[in-house]
Amino acid sequence: MDDLLTRAQALDAADPLAEYRARFFYPEQEPDLIYLDGNSLGRPPLATRERLIKLLDEEWGADLVRGWDRWITLARDAGDTLATGVLGVEPGEVLLCDTASVNLYKLAVAACEARPGRSVIITDDDNFPSDQYVLQGVAAARGMRLEVIKTDLDLGVTADQVRAAIAACPADDVALISLQHVAYRSGAIADMAAITRAAHDGGAIMLWDLCHAAGAVPTPLRDSGADLAIGCTYKHLNGGPGAPGFLYVRRDLQESLRQPIWGWFGQANQFDMGFDYDPVPTVERFLVSSTPVMGGYAAWEGAKLTAEAGVDRIAAKGAQLGQYAIELFDEWLAPLGLRLASPRDPARRGAHVTLHHEAAWQICQAWKAAGVIPDFRTPDRLRIGFAPLYTTFAEVHEAFARLRTIVAASSHLAFPVTRSRIT
Ligand SMILES: *Cc1c(COP(=O)(O)O)cnc(C)c1O
Repeated sequence: MDDLLTRAQALDAADPLAEYRARFFYPEQEPDLIYLDGNSLGRPPLATRERLIKLLDEEWGADLVRGWDRWITLARDAGDTLATGVLGVEPGEVLLCDTASVNLYKLAVAACEARPGRSVIITDDDNFPSDQYVLQGVAAARGMRLEVIKTDLDLGVTADQVRAAIAACPADDVALISLQHVAYRSGAIADMAAITRAAHDGGAIMLWDLCHAAGAVPTPLRDSGADLAIGCTYKHLNGGPGAPGFLYVRRDLQESLRQPIWGWFGQANQFDMGFDYDPVPTVERFLVSSTPVMGGYAAWEGAKLTAEAGVDRIAAKGAQLGQYAIELFDEWLAPLGLRLASPRDPARRGAHVTLHHEAAWQICQAWKAAGVIPDFRTPDRLRIGFAPLYTTFAEVHEAFARLRTIVAASSHLAFPVTRSRIT
């Protein structure tokens, strides 16, 4: 047996989170499938199945519209679990609602409104496309300018780059800076504290996208003094396809910010059905609509499971899985022409590792045909996500062994060069 496999087995035997693997659903028809894409869509927790059946039978089925007595506070109740169990902030600072992109829109507009007369929004070219589009739209609608930092795709954005971007703008002209905490492509962690400080020194509001961070790494919102954040729950939080996203607004900012979609769920005395919009002073003023209850309960179960396991323990195992994968990469894949496209330092990396190869798309298809699900990301990246609650070191060993076999034999060249609609 090779040393690397012995190490995988030892790491699995010592894994304090090992019991969580049995808390998820696995398909019977593909027992050998190795899933390395939990950062696009996490696996279903078993508890979610139970919760949704109860919701259908006992709550929606039996209570009918009376169920809203319980569901009416779901956005806030699940938000409190996310706040204290996942994001390290206070109850009353987080809501489960809408989607990541819609929440980004709401908070970006609210931030620009709070900085009247300033004409610049700053983001970077490594930001997630939906964020780039939303920010372009906000800038266009308001007659503002979007400044785009050129970021190293493998190493992520730095505080020095943010400072330079602010310095390149006229004084007191930057309203908003919006960046990812963990880069979706490389997994690089941005220095939340230093970048938030830079934004504040320039008088700007800082809005963090936590999509690849929430449930994977600690999010030091409180210690950084971060203003605003958004994220989704269907990745590391295992909330299910299309489950609602979340938003965070620091408590002392809540009353002074106004989001642009004036819906009835943000309204004081909602059921008075009054004419004039008069939002509540609390975090619920960032709500718009009826909470999607089915997706909301699924997201809440995922958040509860993460809170129970503990983000610190999850992050520690995520870092170990990444380090082990990089060892396998160094030993087996670097000699075959693949290149590491993520930071090597585990403290600078979220729970995924990205490899570069010019035939990454073909390799991705070949790897799937060999029973491993990774992710392809443009332009030529193979993104490998670890879900510390259910990924084992032995699986990583087996997946990388299959990858080595494919690349060594060039068997990926038999797969189409043209990409499918969804990668
Ligand atoms: C997945 C992801 C999103 C997704 O947005 P939705 O509105 O939930 O579809 C946004 N930002 C980042 C960084 C992501 O990784």
